[in-house]
Amino acid sequence: MSGEDSLKRMTVVITAGYVLALGLLAGLTIGIHVLLNQAVTELQHAGKVVNVAGAQRMLSQRIYWLTEELGHGTGDPDALEAAIDRFETNHRSLIYGDLAAGLPPGVSEDLRSYYFEQPHDLDVKVRHYIELARSALILGVDETLVEDMRPMAAADLLESLDAAVQAYEDQVSANVGQLQDVQSLSVAAVIIVLTLEAVFIFRPLVGRVRRYAGQLYELATRDAMTGLLNRRTFMEFANRSQRERRRTPFPISMVMFDIDHFKAVNDTYGHATGDEVIVRTAALAEEIGRDADLAARIGGEEFVVLLPHTDLDGARMMAERLRSRIKSDAIGAPSGSSSDTIRWTVSLGAVELHDSESIEAGLVRADAQLYAAKNGGRNQVRAA
Ligand code: GH3
Ligand code: MG
Ligand code: MG
Repeated sequence: MSGEDSLKRMTVVITAGYVLALGLLAGLTIGIHVLLNQAVTELQHAGKVVNVAGAQRMLSQRIYWLTEELGHGTGDPDALEAAIDRFETNHRSLIYGDLAAGLPPGVSEDLRSYYFEQPHDLDVKVRHYIELARSALILGVDETLVEDMRPMAAADLLESLDAAVQAYEDQVSANVGQLQDVQSLSVAAVIIVLTLEAVFIFRPLVGRVRRYAGQLYELATRDAMTGLLNRRTFMEFANRSQRERRRTPFPISMVMFDIDHFKAVNDTYGHATGDEVIVRTAALAEEIGRDADLAARIGGEEFVVLLPHTDLDGARMMAERLRSRIKSDAIGAPSGSSSDTIRWTVSLGAVELHDSESIEAGLVRADAQLYAAKNGGRNQVRAA
């Protein structure tokens, strides 16, 4: 896969990861919003119902007193009629609902029994009470009517209305509890989703980015063919070593080398085999060098090794080891060649950096030593 392709793939993967993560959170947020909204609406309904149920209790008493007053000749029939009408309307709204007044559509399952079952049977009691009160308006109030209504107003109906108010209030508490549950569950869900996203989406993404960054770093700092440092990175590291010397002095040397008569390798065996020779030479330079040494490919078949904590004698010895190792090495020749193996040599120039000498100046001197080695007959080390 080309670098551009993997960059595209990477972009797609990261974008998809983000979209997935954000989509999950957005979905969750919308879900929570809907749930909370529903719970709040239910709570509002329930609050309204408690108010109306409370008003019923008050109206039942008012109807009784107005009827009694009417019996004494001091009552106000219009006020009584208005109270009865309100009592009746409220009763219907509680059972069948009244969305315009903010009441839920119909009495809840839990409360049905208060209206339609023993012991409260509120529907029957309320209708009966209304009937009695209306007859007071139509037929006038006599002692029997007041006697019939009094126990209802004082005990039977009142207690059942009280029980209904209590039941409605309990329902509100339950709704508040539900709302709190929804809230806690929402927070838990958000935390869980965020954690899962961190583990299953963002962590793999970060891993991918890190691997890709590592690949880019390798591409930017190393020579693709040999894996050695490239010239730019070599200069960077070498300059850093040179700066470190200012604090604690230590020797630094460099060995520059170039393959001898390399054009002939290319001409005889082809460019691909030439490449093989370059790769093999680089591998041998790394094999001979110490861990702290920095080997770089600075030209087609030209290399340099930085040797920190090594003086000129050490550099010369290293260069000599490398020369002899390469000379004794061989790779297989391509089929159809006149010989089975290919052998080659290198010429090397070694220098020890002066105290405040720049890396560039050191390279120029190493190059001069290398040139001297070439002129001296190749396959040899020159050091100064
Ligand atoms: P000398 O002993 O004087 O160094 O002789 P030489 O033939 O090695 O001369 P020089 O160092 O000037 O040769 C460099 C040749 O290396 C020229 C170029 O065609 C070849 N070359 C440079 N880079 C590559 C590469 O990446 N692969 C291959 N196969 N050949 C390369
Ligand atoms: Mg050469
Ligand atoms: Mg060369």
